[in-house]
Amino acid sequence: MPVKHIPQRTCINCRTIRPKRELVRVIRVTENHLEIDPTGKKNGRGAYLCRQRICWDEILENPDRLTDALKMRAPLASDDVTVMRAFAAPLPLRLANGSDAPPKTN
Ligand SMILES: [Zn+2]
Repeated sequence: MPVKHIPQRTCINCRTIRPKRELVRVIRVTENHLEIDPTGKKNGRGAYLCRQRICWDEILENPDRLTDALKMRAPLASDDVTVMRAFAAPLPLRLANGSDAPPKTN
Protein backbone atom coordinates (compact mmCIF):
# COMPACT_ATOMS: atom_id res chain seq x y z
CA MET A 1 0.00 0.00 0.00
CA PRO A 2 1.42 3.37 -0.94
CA VAL A 3 1.73 5.77 1.95
CA LYS A 4 -0.37 8.85 1.34
CA HIS A 5 1.69 11.97 1.61
CA ILE A 6 0.15 14.50 3.96
CA PRO A 7 1.47 17.99 3.34
CA GLN A 8 2.56 19.74 6.51
CA ARG A 9 2.87 23.43 7.14
CA THR A 10 4.15 25.57 9.99
CA CYS A 11 2.07 28.19 11.78
CA ILE A 12 3.87 31.52 11.41
CA ASN A 13 2.87 32.47 14.94
CA CYS A 14 3.52 29.48 17.19
CA ARG A 15 5.69 27.43 14.78
CA THR A 16 3.59 24.33 15.33
CA ILE A 17 3.76 21.95 12.39
CA ARG A 18 0.37 20.57 11.44
CA PRO A 19 -1.23 18.94 8.43
CA LYS A 20 -1.95 21.72 5.95
CA ARG A 21 -5.73 21.32 6.16
CA GLU A 22 -5.66 21.93 9.92
CA LEU A 23 -4.20 25.38 9.32
CA VAL A 24 -5.75 28.44 7.74
CA ARG A 25 -4.00 29.93 4.75
CA VAL A 26 -3.63 33.67 4.39
CA ILE A 27 -2.44 34.99 1.05
CA ARG A 28 -1.03 38.25 -0.17
CA VAL A 29 -3.22 39.77 -2.86
CA THR A 30 -1.34 43.06 -3.35
CA GLU A 31 1.69 44.74 -1.77
CA ASN A 32 -0.37 45.77 1.24
CA HIS A 33 -3.45 43.60 1.19
CA LEU A 34 -4.06 40.05 2.24
CA GLU A 35 -6.96 37.69 2.06
CA ILE A 36 -7.98 34.61 4.01
CA ASP A 37 -8.01 31.57 1.76
CA PRO A 38 -10.04 28.87 3.55
CA THR A 39 -9.77 26.47 0.60
CA GLY A 40 -5.98 26.83 0.38
CA LYS A 41 -6.24 26.81 -3.40
CA LYS A 42 -5.81 30.42 -4.40
CA ASN A 43 -2.66 31.57 -6.12
CA GLY A 44 -0.32 33.83 -4.27
CA ARG A 45 2.26 33.85 -1.54
CA GLY A 46 0.70 32.27 1.49
CA ALA A 47 1.30 31.91 5.20
CA TYR A 48 -0.42 29.58 7.62
CA LEU A 49 -2.01 30.09 11.02
CA CYS A 50 -3.53 27.59 13.44
CA ARG A 51 -7.29 27.38 13.74
CA GLN A 52 -7.02 28.84 17.21
CA ARG A 53 -7.69 32.43 18.14
CA ILE A 54 -4.53 32.85 20.19
CA CYS A 55 -2.36 32.63 17.08
CA TRP A 56 -4.45 35.25 15.27
CA ASP A 57 -4.49 37.57 18.29
CA GLU A 58 -0.74 37.24 18.72
CA ILE A 59 0.11 37.76 15.06
CA LEU A 60 -2.11 40.86 14.93
CA GLU A 61 -0.26 42.23 17.96
CA ASN A 62 2.99 41.75 16.08
CA PRO A 63 1.97 41.85 12.41
CA ASP A 64 5.54 42.31 11.15
CA ARG A 65 5.87 38.53 11.33
CA LEU A 66 2.89 38.20 9.03
CA THR A 67 3.94 40.90 6.58
CA ASP A 68 7.49 39.46 6.54
CA ALA A 69 6.20 35.97 5.83
CA LEU A 70 4.10 37.32 2.97
CA LYS A 71 6.88 39.67 1.82
CA MET A 72 4.52 42.61 1.97
CA ARG A 73 6.11 46.02 1.66
CA ALA A 74 3.53 47.95 3.64
CA PRO A 75 2.03 47.55 7.09
CA LEU A 76 -1.13 45.55 7.41
CA ALA A 77 -4.16 47.56 6.31
CA SER A 78 -6.70 48.21 9.04
CA ASP A 79 -9.51 46.58 7.05
CA ASP A 80 -7.39 43.44 6.73
CA VAL A 81 -6.93 43.46 10.50
CA THR A 82 -10.71 43.72 10.84
CA VAL A 83 -11.23 40.78 8.48
CA MET A 84 -8.69 38.66 10.36
CA ARG A 85 -10.23 39.49 13.74
CA ALA A 86 -13.68 38.63 12.42
CA PHE A 87 -12.38 35.31 11.08
CA ALA A 88 -10.65 34.47 14.36
CA ALA A 89 -13.55 35.45 16.62
CA PRO A 90 -15.47 32.13 16.40
CA LEU A 91 -12.32 29.99 16.63
CA PRO A 92 -11.47 28.28 19.92
CA LEU A 93 -8.94 30.29 21.91
CA ARG A 94 -6.59 27.33 22.02
CA LEU A 95 -6.69 23.89 20.48
CA ALA A 96 -6.32 21.08 22.98
CA ASN A 97 -3.13 19.70 21.44
CA GLY A 98 -0.94 19.92 18.42
CA SER A 99 -1.86 17.05 16.12
CA ASP A 100 1.69 15.75 16.42
CA ALA A 101 1.62 15.80 20.21
CA PRO A 102 1.76 12.40 21.88
CA PRO A 103 -1.49 11.26 23.48
CA LYS A 104 -1.78 11.92 27.18
CA THR A 105 -1.28 8.81 29.24
CA ASN A 106 -2.26 9.95 32.72
ZN1 LIG B 1 -0.24 28.62 15.71
